[in-house]
Amino acid sequence: TAEIIDGNAIAAKIRGGLKARVDKLVAAAGWRPTLAVIRVGEDPASIVYVGRKVRACEEAGIDSRQYVFPADVSQEEVIATVRELSAAPDVHGILVQLPLPKHIALAPVLGAISVEKDVDGFHLYNVGGLVIGDTVFPPCTPHGVMLLLDAAGVEISGKNAVVVGASNIVGKPMALMLMQREATVSICHIKTRDLAQYTILADILILAAGSPKLVVGPMVKRGAVVVDVGINRMPDGKLVGDCDFETVKERASLLTPVPGGVGPMTVTMLLANTVKSAERHFQREKGQAERIGEPEPV
Ligand code: NAD
Repeated sequence: TAEIIDGNAIAAKIRGGLKARVDKLVAAAGWRPTLAVIRVGEDPASIVYVGRKVRACEEAGIDSRQYVFPADVSQEEVIATVRELSAAPDVHGILVQLPLPKHIALAPVLGAISVEKDVDGFHLYNVGGLVIGDTVFPPCTPHGVMLLLDAAGVEISGKNAVVVGASNIVGKPMALMLMQREATVSICHIKTRDLAQYTILADILILAAGSPKLVVGPMVKRGAVVVDVGINRMPDGKLVGDCDFETVKERASLLTPVPGGVGPMTVTMLLANTVKSAERHFQREKGQAERIGEPEPV
């Protein structure tokens, strides 16, 4: 039976460290790290996620500002706000909550975010950095998964890693991060024929498809580490991941729960990127002479 990885506990520990860094920065700089969050429309899930991020900021001593637009706002207006925030000296992180309404093109909105404030890591500059293994702001969800694996003591180098899901925000960056750590990576997606043929080989199996019970026990190698990124709301209101928890638990050695696995880590990585950005801002502001120490990798 698998040991269950407690994402809440690992996230809480990291958040404690981040809060200490915030306190240190506030004492040295006289200002707080500040995150600007842009939300468009009234998508219920987006409202919940933004609420969580704002609350987590508060707990870590990070100021947050919300910019809420109606669903029919023009693309130009959203971009104008992003540009303003990109230029504002007292804003260190900019987050555009996705998804945006269909009439707004994502690329120009993300492209308007200053690369120095791109705490979600979705600007092409940061995506490019990720490809060569040297990004400033790693995208939050896959970065959170990497830290979960590290906290659980999972060895990555040389292992077979299989990522189910190939989106720009989870699956693809996840695969790049695992490859950077010298795993042998396979990426599966909706067109993959015979998913089980791949999953059964995985020492590390990452599920990010958004499909409940996509992976059942017999598809999992005995002793595998399974990280379930999926969040699916069932008709009865319950949240489940992409794996059939009960049968996969019997095969895996380590397994993340939904909720309480990757979710809290995602929010924590947003805080980490915002603190990192604020520290970098302070260092630019004060120059080398008054360095408060290298920004930590988390
Ligand atoms: P997405 O819909 O953009 O991408 C899903 C990917 O999975 C696609 O590449 C698709 O080809 C693949 N896929 C879908 N169904 C599949 C199937 N039956 N077999 C194989 N591949 C399949 O979703 P996303 O934004 O990448 O998110 C994926 C899941 O992770 C969702 O459930 C989402 O809610 C969740 N999520 C969780 C967190 C978190 O913090 N825990 C963060 C982001 C997303």
